[in-house]
Amino acid sequence: MNVLLIGSGGREHALAWKLSASPLLSNLYCAPGNGGIADVAECVPLAVADHTAVMRFCKDNAIDLVVVGPEAPLVAGLVDDLTTSGIKCFGPSQAAAQLEGSKGFTKDLCAEFNIPTAAYGRFTDAASAKAYAAQQKLPIVVKADGLAAGKGVTIAETHAEADAAIEACFEGAFGAAGSEVVIEEFLVGEEASFFALCDGKNALPLAAAQDHKRVGDGDTGPNTGGMGAYSPAAVVTPEMSARIMDEIINPTVAAMQARGIPFKGVLFAGLMITADGPKLIEYNVRFGDPETQVLMLRLKSDLLLALLAATDGVLDTFDLRWYDDAALTVVLAANGYPATPETGTEINGVEKAAAVDGVEIFHAGTRRDGGRLLATGGRVLNVTAIGNTVAEAQARAYQAAAAIDWPGGFYRKDIGWRAVEREKTSQ
Ligand code: AMP
Repeated sequence: MNVLLIGSGGREHALAWKLSASPLLSNLYCAPGNGGIADVAECVPLAVADHTAVMRFCKDNAIDLVVVGPEAPLVAGLVDDLTTSGIKCFGPSQAAAQLEGSKGFTKDLCAEFNIPTAAYGRFTDAASAKAYAAQQKLPIVVKADGLAAGKGVTIAETHAEADAAIEACFEGAFGAAGSEVVIEEFLVGEEASFFALCDGKNALPLAAAQDHKRVGDGDTGPNTGGMGAYSPAAVVTPEMSARIMDEIINPTVAAMQARGIPFKGVLFAGLMITADGPKLIEYNVRFGDPETQVLMLRLKSDLLLALLAATDGVLDTFDLRWYDDAALTVVLAANGYPATPETGTEINGVEKAAAVDGVEIFHAGTRRDGGRLLATGGRVLNVTAIGNTVAEAQARAYQAAAAIDWPGGFYRKDIGWRAVEREKTSQ
């Protein structure tokens, strides 16, 4: 099979790495790809927003399956256009991608189908949003409705802070994403990311993972796209996983089918595990980044076969196998990230780092310039390791990270700390 993967981050490098191990694969292309993806796929400089150009590339290269990594092309309807022109594509339609593209859409779906989530209100003007917020307990959560690259959420400790966040949304701080505002009850508990492969009718759970969103050690400082992740996630026990499937994932798949917009692709639930059980914080409609990097190391089954089964609607007869081992990834980011990452700095020692037992290095934002490897983005490398325990995976990942010579970058030194503490106390 010839496969075209869309995207250019660490998530896509991990997907490309796993896809390239499939015996079904003939040629793997990635658009636009990056300096590390080039080791496992042919990178093609396609303008992904130009759907006609993507279709032409697929026809010219006899592409059998397109796999879409990031959310923006999904929300822009790339899957719809490719499917209409007869090209098989893994990922949700534009209508189904509203689960990520509109928080209001998802909240209304949860309310209608009894899916546990935070209490909420939807608003299109500042005055009524403020009036509602004034009646709620603190802290209160203010969110821009649309895609805001993870930046449209404010946890307000005071009503004045909530009012300021509401005004910022309606004054265009997040562009069109903020023209509607969702105000939510603050949930207390431990967060977890849960992934399920969906074929429109059936859902198959993937392993759970936990990420670290804050930039600094001890989970401090501004939010980022994610500074590291690990799997398994201790809060998601087999019993909790069954509850999440029964109370959240399966009802969502059924609800989308009932609405006539069946969900195909990866449903990524951001959850709060509260004293009352799992509650949905938000949905994403694609693989998580950097969670995918750890999931791909733990996946034993053929990823290409799994993505095909989801696309073809036959997940009910499919099964996924996982290694029992733990996996952990440390994100190496450019100095200045997340505000103003410095680009163009040179990275050395990646081969030495990759030689550490159990380690895979995924590239998130690099390009090759002759023999040199240069940083191109905020999050640049994902040093990922497998081990018998989270502690072992962590030790290997940090041994490898220390072998990388990159004065232009930094990383957190405590990824996985909660899981490592838990392992210590359970010994
Ligand atoms: P979101 O973009 O909706 O995932 O929100 C980003 C982060 O804000 C989440 O990962 C949570 O840490 C936090 N958050 C969002 N909504 C809530 C909520 N209702 N209660 C508590 N924390 C929340």
